[in-house]
Amino acid sequence: GQLFGALDRQPPDALLAVIGMHRADPRPDKIDVGVGVYRDASGATPVMRAVKQAEARLLAAQPSKAYLGAEGDQRFTDLLAGIALGPELAASDRITGVQTPGGTGALRLGAELLARSGAGTIWVGTPTWPNHGPIFREAGLTVRHHAYFDAETAGIDEQAFLSSLDAAAPGDVVLLHGCCHNPTGTALSPDQWQRLVAKLAERRLIPFVDLAYQGLGRGLDADAAGTRTLLAAVPEALLAYSCDKNFALYRERVGALWVQSATPETGAAVRDTMLVLARSLWSMPPDHGAAVVRVILEDDDLAAEWRAELDAMCARINRLRTLLAAIHPALASIADQQGLFALLPIDAAAVEALRAQHAIYMPASGRINIAGLNEDNVARFAAAIAPYLG
Ligand code: PMP
Repeated sequence: GQLFGALDRQPPDALLAVIGMHRADPRPDKIDVGVGVYRDASGATPVMRAVKQAEARLLAAQPSKAYLGAEGDQRFTDLLAGIALGPELAASDRITGVQTPGGTGALRLGAELLARSGAGTIWVGTPTWPNHGPIFREAGLTVRHHAYFDAETAGIDEQAFLSSLDAAAPGDVVLLHGCCHNPTGTALSPDQWQRLVAKLAERRLIPFVDLAYQGLGRGLDADAAGTRTLLAAVPEALLAYSCDKNFALYRERVGALWVQSATPETGAAVRDTMLVLARSLWSMPPDHGAAVVRVILEDDDLAAEWRAELDAMCARINRLRTLLAAIHPALASIADQQGLFALLPIDAAAVEALRAQHAIYMPASGRINIAGLNEDNVARFAAAIAPYLG
């Protein structure tokens, strides 16, 4: 028989289908709240000014494109640690980090490290980013689901969340969104982080934080505060980081994985293992995007320009959140949430009707990208969805 005859067709990516339909729609006032990238008021996802300048410098002055190593651009990772972890944790001799191809690569490398270390089960929230399950399963881990989102309140059901972790065994891993939860927009308060830390310690669970939107919620430091509290409190943890949103470098695939070990000696073995695993996954991560981030973070002026542009993106998202939340009581929680996403309490039939009748595009889950709106169409958007909100 044929080797590939046993393979089944796979369902198409749901978001790609939404993109295609939106593109083909001739209605001039169509709205795309489907795709998960930042958009400015004109609907564009521009290259950031600081990135353009860093690219110009690289083009003019980059001395070589000879291989780096499996760790990628280590200076990138070390400078980024200052942004993600803050100065104290960045100096910890128990934390080691390497560059990865995007946040996805960081999650996958972390998954492989967990599997190699003997971890069996990772817990993810309901709902979570749809790629979390496949990433961990492909590495051989068992994926289980804990409670998280309460659709009634469009908030976190903290009691259900924490008590569902009682079903986890010591040594199980728990995947946490550092900020700007995808798809719900929810965020743990500082008190909730504290109680989560206590639960993880009590049950002896290993946190794996996914920080993919730092700076797009409440600001760079605020968005990392929970992650830092957590790392300071537990012996072992992983942090997968993506620069693809906060530097708008999406297709360049820029990320990092940091692993915190109980002792510096264990950390050395962890690092060796990460590098061995990276070699067989991708040998080395792509250089360009990480080099751009390094050039920005090495230069005070460029770094200030990047921060200002990121702050403006964050402010635009939060302005739209305030506008949308004020229009309908069922949307009020959108103002308390953060980041690009919110999960509308509507069903797939309503999503379909919005597309047919109002040229509004989103995936069947009802997840919307707030940045897909603008100050001129947010009222029309809210009026269109209002009949479905109950
Ligand atoms: N984690 C979450 C929660 C995400 O939403 C995404 C991107 N959609 C990623 C990780 C992966 O990011 P990257 O594009 O850098 O692989």
